[in-house]
Amino acid sequence: MAECVARFLASRPRTVRWLEWLAGRRYRLAAFPDRERPVVVIASRERSSARAEQVAHAIEHDWAETPPLCHDAYEEILEQAPGLIVVQLRRKNVCGCLGHRHVLVKELPFSEPQDAFGDASVGEMDIAFDRVESWLAQPLMETALDSQFIAGSRRKEFHDQQLRFRLLSILLHETHHMVAPQAPEDVVRERSLTFYREALAHYVEVARATMSFTIDRSFSRLGKE
Ligand SMILES: [Zn+2]
Repeated sequence: MAECVARFLASRPRTVRWLEWLAGRRYRLAAFPDRERPVVVIASRERSSARAEQVAHAIEHDWAETPPLCHDAYEEILEQAPGLIVVQLRRKNVCGCLGHRHVLVKELPFSEPQDAFGDASVGEMDIAFDRVESWLAQPLMETALDSQFIAGSRRKEFHDQQLRFRLLSILLHETHHMVAPQAPEDVVRERSLTFYREALAHYVEVARATMSFTIDRSFSRLGKE
């Protein structure tokens, strides 16, 4: 599926791709490691790919690191999701939300049905990167975990991981809305927050286990007692 989409994007007229490039439009395809679909198209308006790469990393790598509980919660949703999900990655949203599901697909190459996508339907959402970065999803828990990582490389790693789990949980949250448009917000939110909480707790647990065998000064012993 990802290959079909990549081929389709490359097969468009040269001038179209050139104008798109000049306008700063970039597309990064990402697929979950354990499933064919959905394929995610990260659409950004920035010359720098750093933010899009964070989202891609979350899908391609971090998803696989989450515990079975997290996978199970979204198994059915991902199964029923559109085959192609376009994520318009922005810095901010006017409304201040973290993300939205779009009723209509607006991203140009995907707004009309294409033979290349076969029977896959297309869904679209936006994610406001800067908002996600500053969002306190689980304030108490996050502060408690944070205090265990003393400033240093481990803490930086923890913060990067935290951001990618947030991005992943929002992607899954909006996908849930796509699959179940009638589902109430609190139900959808509870599921995505639980995903985030469990993924983060699991990460810290693994980090702790590996560090207890070494004298890692970036990890606070106090936080453990
Ligand atoms: Zn929602």
